[in-house]
Amino acid sequence: MAKKKQGRIRDREKIIEDAIVELITKMYGPNARKVITHIIRSRGVVAEETLGKELGIKSNEARRILQKLAEEAIISYRKVRRDDRTIHGWILNREQLEGVLISRLKKTLDKLKTRLEYEENTILYECPVCGRRYSLDEAMDYDYMCPIDGAPLNEYDPSESIKVLKEKIKEIEADLAFLGAI
Ligand SMILES: [Zn+2]
Repeated sequence: MAKKKQGRIRDREKIIEDAIVELITKMYGPNARKVITHIIRSRGVVAEETLGKELGIKSNEARRILQKLAEEAIISYRKVRRDDRTIHGWILNREQLEGVLISRLKKTLDKLKTRLEYEENTILYECPVCGRRYSLDEAMDYDYMCPIDGAPLNEYDPSESIKVLKEKIKEIEADLAFLGAI
């Protein structure tokens, strides 16, 4: 039983780490993915001086990414003595990852819900030629003709976009439920 429970905790840790890697990739790109993956796998202090070279990215780019991760509270700075030299070390804030993830997910969820409410409650008109969208007031002002190209405006059908938003919201809510955050 105890063993089984430990296994579950490890699974949970792995799921959170994977989610953090995805989040960082989305926010800062593929080089940031390399950096965070390396830091997670190393399970110790990573030296700033050699990180870029080890991962095949420019050292100033590596430094910039480390700074971003530190701002997100995902890693912390550590001065380390190694072979008579002082190095700039970085270490994963493993116990912070869950909190970082939850707060990011909640922020995204809020944005999606605001967007959904807007899509559900706003009448928009769309130009079939240039794709510009106009509010009801604007469409009335323009006699339901696009002021750019004169094409007659159609009422914009938000159902597809509403469907996509609802699916995303459901996914994030399921993630938050998994993390015990809602
Ligand atoms: Zn137009």
